[in-house]
Amino acid sequence: MSAKLIDGKAIAATIRGEIKAEVDAMKAKTGKVPGLAAVLVGERKDSQTYVRMKKRACEEVGITSFGYDLPADISQEDLLDVVRELNNNPDVHGILVQLPLPDHIDDEEILGAISLEKDVDGFHPLNIGRLSMKRRDPLFVPCTPRGCIELLDRSGVTIEGKNAVVLGRSNIVGLPVAMLLLHRNATVTICHSRTQNLPEVVRGADIVIAAVGRAQMVQADWLKPGATVIDVGVNAVDDPTAKKGYRLVGDVDFDAAKEVAGMITPVPGGVGPMTIAMLLKNTLDSAKRTYGLA
Ligand code: NDP
Repeated sequence: MSAKLIDGKAIAATIRGEIKAEVDAMKAKTGKVPGLAAVLVGERKDSQTYVRMKKRACEEVGITSFGYDLPADISQEDLLDVVRELNNNPDVHGILVQLPLPDHIDDEEILGAISLEKDVDGFHPLNIGRLSMKRRDPLFVPCTPRGCIELLDRSGVTIEGKNAVVLGRSNIVGLPVAMLLLHRNATVTICHSRTQNLPEVVRGADIVIAAVGRAQMVQADWLKPGATVIDVGVNAVDDPTAKKGYRLVGDVDFDAAKEVAGMITPVPGGVGPMTIAMLLKNTLDSAKRTYGLA
């Protein structure tokens, strides 16, 4: 293997340790700790797992978690009432509404109702808007994109002046990560399903962020030798040898790509653990602002 592995699991553990130390210091100084409310609607197994993982991570660093398990048939108005109640709860510094929401719910209205000061997922239109403007700092940056930048920073990768290619333009990953790279003075190309000559475009990249949701789509010969590759994709592929009958792979053909890239994240164990670490960090930042410690 020629590429250096970017170990997201280890980096996320370091960050959680830093957060715990800050939470302890906050408690000693103010008697308060950060609080995160996780709102789960319905019984999707994957959403239940994500929320459980987030609550467990909160406990580990001393953040109080407030769980709201709501029925799949909850009305728009009742869900809005829950969000409003959490907006007014002074012990809650962060509100996350687990996506996707059931089809009958207007998620844009729900996300827009979250107080700007508690929008730890960073999906409020005003936070996204500020992220897209020059010299406007959002209060919160979405967790997965923030995690990608942390991985680059903590691996000593220079972003300024580099060619960065982002594969994917979703509101959750592709678009915000591209904006963050732009803020850090990379020259950014955003690719999507209508992009022509994708391999050619990717070959120009010093930094590749893959967030398309297509198993092992990015091939080794698409990469410039020495490029840094951050693989956000999480895709299940059949594997009869695995206990569950499937295994998780990224958007990059890891085994071949690691022979060409300079640095690369694995899947799992790359971006995934960073997403939760950044949620904790956003919650801590929010509480620090509340108690005048920022
Ligand atoms: P979306 O489906 O919302 O967006 C996918 C993007 O990829 C779209 O912009 C789409 O283009 C583009 N795309 C799809 N097919 C192609 C193709 N063949 N060539 C070029 N571009 C293509 O996905 P998300 O952004 O929500 O997630 C992306 C991946 O990241 C998924 O695997 C998801 O599971 C994973 N993920 C991982 C997280 C983590 O914590 N590790 C967190 C969030 C997501 P177009 O806009 O034209 O349709």
